[in-house]
Amino acid sequence: MAILVPGGAGYIGSHTVYELIDSGEDVAVIDNLETGHEWAIHPKARFYKGDIRDRAFVDGVFEKEDIECVIHFAANSLVGESMTDPLKYYENNVHGTQVLLQSMLAHDVKKIVFSSTAAVYGEPVRTPIEESDPACPTNTYGDTKLTMEKMMAWTEKAHGLKYISLRYFNACGAHISGRIGEAHNPETHLIPLILQVPLGSREFISIYGDDYDTPDGTCIRDYIHVTDLADAHILAARHLNSGGESNIFNLGIGKGFSVREVIDCARYVTGHPIPEKTTPRRSGDPARLIASCKKANEVLGWSAKHTDISQMISSAWNWHRNTDLI
Ligand code: UDP
Repeated sequence: MAILVPGGAGYIGSHTVYELIDSGEDVAVIDNLETGHEWAIHPKARFYKGDIRDRAFVDGVFEKEDIECVIHFAANSLVGESMTDPLKYYENNVHGTQVLLQSMLAHDVKKIVFSSTAAVYGEPVRTPIEESDPACPTNTYGDTKLTMEKMMAWTEKAHGLKYISLRYFNACGAHISGRIGEAHNPETHLIPLILQVPLGSREFISIYGDDYDTPDGTCIRDYIHVTDLADAHILAARHLNSGGESNIFNLGIGKGFSVREVIDCARYVTGHPIPEKTTPRRSGDPARLIASCKKANEVLGWSAKHTDISQMISSAWNWHRNTDLI
């Protein structure tokens, strides 16, 4: 039986497909290539180009494939865009997931691993954040992911769907093969933006506010290597396939780094001075987001293998400076 990966041409989706195939799984990918890249799709995955909102298309894939479990990444994920075009996010993320779930139920596929986000917590009430802490998103993107989680919980009650929602903190890094890495257009994430400076396509990195209540005044985030995220999806799928219960897990390393620490580390890794400029805060940025990963460790047996930020930045740098794909 195969695993179906909607969004398997995107950043985290493509890395998960690589890990799935390396661990011997049979994989089918759905992607509309709106933000994903054809080059990121593993050559051994069967690729279906189309949109999860298109019920006939999704039904067609379930009819062709013998699917045991779905690992769902297909979504828009730009926080800023979600604030200026919220309905696009409800349409693609929430409605898309609704159609996918309807098609899954119609084909008696009742296991799904779901790509969620730390953005569901909004401004955290404490750190490290535990899964049972209040979820009060401060942006549309986070709200759509929380809505999708709720949709799966109600579908479980009504139809016995089993789901695992993985709330990622800050994904970074690239695949060890050097074949795939992080490529968003437009790019909004800190590490790839920093690396554009030594690559010559950006003059300086902006620090979005240095007046936060943190030791150096800049925001603190829990950065997690994309391959560690991918491994957690595989463990989650195996957990469901062996009869495990629905659950929600944070995925991070349980340790935070400030924007300044990340920039300093990138200077060390790249050997480039990387000029910086402090600009006003970006709206909606909490000062500190750090995961408690105890639950994923206890239930899934998962923990991050990459915990050194310089290792994570090196892996991103290795891909960015060698690729001609972006
Ligand atoms: N950030 C920054 N300059 C940039 C991009 C991001 O100072 O050019 C900061 C941002 O305010 C946040 C952290 O870096 O505190 C990580 O931002 P990113 O967009 O990578 O991830 P997010 O935490 O928003 O998911």
